[in-house]
Amino acid sequence: MSKTFDLSLTERSRLEQVEGIIFDIQRYSVHDGPGLRTNVFFKGCPLHCGWCANPESQSMQPELVLSEVNCISCGQFETPCPICWAEQGESGWSREQLEEFDERTAICPTGAIHWIGERRTAGDIMREVRRDAPFYAEGGGLTLTGGEVTMQPDLAEALLRLAQAEGISTAMETCGHTRWPVLERLLPYLDHILYDLKQVDTETHRKFTGLGNELILDNLRWLVAAKAPLTIRVPLIPGLNASAEPMRAIAGFVRDLGDSRLSIHLLPYHTLGQSKYKALGRTYPWAEHDRLMTDEVNTLARLVESYGLMVKVGG
Ligand code: SF4
Repeated sequence: MSKTFDLSLTERSRLEQVEGIIFDIQRYSVHDGPGLRTNVFFKGCPLHCGWCANPESQSMQPELVLSEVNCISCGQFETPCPICWAEQGESGWSREQLEEFDERTAICPTGAIHWIGERRTAGDIMREVRRDAPFYAEGGGLTLTGGEVTMQPDLAEALLRLAQAEGISTAMETCGHTRWPVLERLLPYLDHILYDLKQVDTETHRKFTGLGNELILDNLRWLVAAKAPLTIRVPLIPGLNASAEPMRAIAGFVRDLGDSRLSIHLLPYHTLGQSKYKALGRTYPWAEHDRLMTDEVNTLARLVESYGLMVKVGG
């Protein structure tokens, strides 16, 4: 049951005008929270994980995307876009190339070349979210995800408050790398927090994500102390944590938080984001790693269970 907060007309109007950068709104999702969800994807993330399934979420800036399979070689240009796309230099696109592609985005008949990431107001986003409200029975609702939601706290707070004022259940996925006051500010408006925990070892975390995990571990401790509605999610990543030793460290850390309500969701690594790297003109950094076998995932799930924790595979 969602908490409901009343809003005055003036406050509602102010919140509706708050702006931020998002890159997608996914309707009817069965992931990232209970029931049917409407997932709003924030753009920008402080971490740079090599296995990221949403590489378009990492930069805060709008980015050009070329979906080769949707290109029909329309004939408007002497050279079709995918051929030009292959000419990207090591330092990325030149200004002239970007200007030329920008021109093409406006007239591509299939949307095969387009910009991703746009500035929108909370009111505009909520108009889209509201269309799914009839399907939110059985605990469904709005999920803020990304990218990292806490990099845009004004937009996050506005969306959460607007949703809760309408009785829409709210969830947020976070990597946890943010200042505590930001989480504290959003906490009253959240029915579910999906908290990613990738590695307990700080140096390994730094090596594979670009940043240490001190803030992430501290924020998790504080959220537990605040009795936040937490689910801990561990992406099982070969080469990072999908083996006995790092999983023992994660399970031990969570057990020592001392909260029997906590459960861990294991999210097995997949390669579905790989084609997005190509569309963004980037190389997929995790290409040498295969997907995990079901047996491997089950073994790791049993290992975590042996620490007395509730475990679910998938999220
Ligand atoms: S404008 Fe669109 S359809 Fe035409 S060549 Fe470019 S990507 Fe292909």
